[in-house]
Amino acid sequence: MKRNIFILSMLLVAVLCGSAKDNPRVFINPGHGGHDSNDRPTPFYLWTVGDTVCYYESDSNLATGSALKRYLEEKGYEVGTTRVGNTSDDDLDLYEIVALAANSGADLFFAVHSNATGIPTRLNYTLSLYRGYNGEPVVEGSDSIARAVKKHLHANQTTVWTHSPKDWGDWSFYRNWGYKTGLGVLRYNKLPGMLCEGSFFDYVPERCRKLNTDFCHLEGWNQSLAIDEYFGRGNKGKTGVVAGLVRHQCERTDTTYKAFEKDLLQPANKMTVTLLNAKGRTVGQYRIDNLNNGFYWFEGLKPGRYRVRVEGADAESVVEVRANESTYCNFEIGALVR
Ligand SMILES: [Zn+2]
Repeated sequence: MKRNIFILSMLLVAVLCGSAKDNPRVFINPGHGGHDSNDRPTPFYLWTVGDTVCYYESDSNLATGSALKRYLEEKGYEVGTTRVGNTSDDDLDLYEIVALAANSGADLFFAVHSNATGIPTRLNYTLSLYRGYNGEPVVEGSDSIARAVKKHLHANQTTVWTHSPKDWGDWSFYRNWGYKTGLGVLRYNKLPGMLCEGSFFDYVPERCRKLNTDFCHLEGWNQSLAIDEYFGRGNKGKTGVVAGLVRHQCERTDTTYKAFEKDLLQPANKMTVTLLNAKGRTVGQYRIDNLNNGFYWFEGLKPGRYRVRVEGADAESVVEVRANESTYCNFEIGALVR
């Protein structure tokens, strides 16, 4: 009898291991919540006089985390999350987050955040943090997922990166916080996991982009590619995406903020980008918003050759879409007519 129970137990372990391998479970924590003062509200003044928008980190974290959840589920993962709303009640305390992740039976814990310098310096890069010292994660595998995320996010060409992407053990990164202190949300976590600071929202051109939820969706998509790589499931996705920025060949109209490289150009607002398939048939149109980011994208595309056209600008490019990859196509069109 005892032996039978033992065999049954081993079978159960085998089934669970098998299911973890076939259908990995990911638990996502889109950081913050509730539009409270600790949600880093950041007023943003558009170049149109009197037009104001407030950026909250919790909004872009939720847009990114929700998109990541959707993409992973489409690719066969089982996914849990700490929140789908953005009220104060959704902003769980760290113990609750860790307990929910542990109870979910997840194979991976993934916290979604955006970064800010906290000082007047402006920069933009991707930062992947895991618990432990550099190269010595407390939970095995945490450094691997951090490296994969760093690579896939830094490949995004719809932004301007000022520095190389970084992956750090939080004990090394926050060495001034005290001996083995590190990030609260990773402190009691026993799962392979990390916290992703996708980019810097206090870099104004990046904040313009993060105010567009589709730009956040692209970040979630790229995170899903990294998670696929971590689990060796890069062949599960059947579709790809095309994304890009449309900019004018002239200096930006608002020079009150710091900008680098191509962000010195004026982004296109309210223009239409059309996607045509190999037969010349329109398969999608994207209306660029008026938030000074020039961002467009198309998702869920079958692999193949497409043409991307900026309407009214005599700008067109041929792109190749590959399954489970991101294709980028930026445009510089004529000067802005004022
Ligand atoms: Zn944060």
